[in-house]
Amino acid sequence: MKIMSIELFAIHLPLKEPFIVSYHTYNHMPSIIVKVTTNEGIVGYGEGVPDEHVTGETWEGTFEIIKNTLGPVLIGQNPMEIERIHELMNKAIYGAPTAKAAIDIACFDIMGKKLQQPVYQLIGGRYHAEFPITHVLSISEPEEMAAEAALMKEIGYQSFKMKVGTKVSKDVERIKAVRSQVGEDIAIRVDVNQGWINSATTITAVEQLRNLGIDWLEQPVVADDIDGMVEVKSKTTIPMMIDEGLKGTRDMREIIQKRAADKVNIKLMKCGGIYPAVKLAHQAELAGMECQIGSMVESSVGSAAGFHVAFSKKIITSVELTGPLKFSKDVGNLAYDVPFIRLTEKPGLGVEVNEETLMELTVFQGSVQ
Ligand SMILES: [Mg+2]
Repeated sequence: MKIMSIELFAIHLPLKEPFIVSYHTYNHMPSIIVKVTTNEGIVGYGEGVPDEHVTGETWEGTFEIIKNTLGPVLIGQNPMEIERIHELMNKAIYGAPTAKAAIDIACFDIMGKKLQQPVYQLIGGRYHAEFPITHVLSISEPEEMAAEAALMKEIGYQSFKMKVGTKVSKDVERIKAVRSQVGEDIAIRVDVNQGWINSATTITAVEQLRNLGIDWLEQPVVADDIDGMVEVKSKTTIPMMIDEGLKGTRDMREIIQKRAADKVNIKLMKCGGIYPAVKLAHQAELAGMECQIGSMVESSVGSAAGFHVAFSKKIITSVELTGPLKFSKDVGNLAYDVPFIRLTEKPGLGVEVNEETLMELTVFQGSVQ
């Protein structure tokens, strides 16, 4: 089997509500959808959602890299030979994990469709039956976050991820407000998105959060400050998670060697797709470190890819892939059984792409053949 063409669609995914994190407010998510066609007529879809604050990639840049740098070396290659596909991509350009993820995901979609198996059966087999969905609370006033949590608890959500990362005193207020609203039995995870900057500020914060029953505290210090994480971790009993500080294998090695976190957040867009994510999960498992699969707020295509990795690995104990629930329009049909997600047995990613919606959301497009 050979890759014959790669079509690219630069789209805007419309959000129902603006998504607010410490470093940006999003009204829509810019994404790149790729459609890879083989000489056997099998079509695979992939997605790349770049985040300039996390991987240093832009929407336009990701499009250009796939079209002009990765695309030309991949035409004629066998999408089943994923180790080779990654080697070719890594030789063509250093970094650019989001562009590589889009191609990797499309290749796995093709592999699954060719073998008539869901992707999770190709990378370890289904291990988890279902995952509870965590509801993400964007940064807002403490009482507004608490009210939203109360509403979602009524629908059945058992866990919340709070976005914080502004002033410590205000963030502590937010977390206390949500905890007192939802009670003791609901899981609360707190994501600072590097907003507290250094270990000193973070240690001040964790002292005030000690008795609030937080599952874990995610990325309080700037991404590259692994030593800062080590210091915070040594001074608190709240489990610590690294997200932006983990991209690929080299970061994982440092995190493991320094015991810098209790848990890490693997995202396909940070590491280059399904295949590198599986490698990271295995690396973490060897060190006895739990993992989560997260996302950049991706459509059904990228989110499904993340779920396939999560469902097949014992060491992956939580997921945050709620993009499709946040969009008013989506290119695919990944089904959530709120407040749970259960994958189907459909081949490949198990997602049908609606080409009409895809065209409607497309801002510009291109192709390589
Ligand atoms: Mg995070």
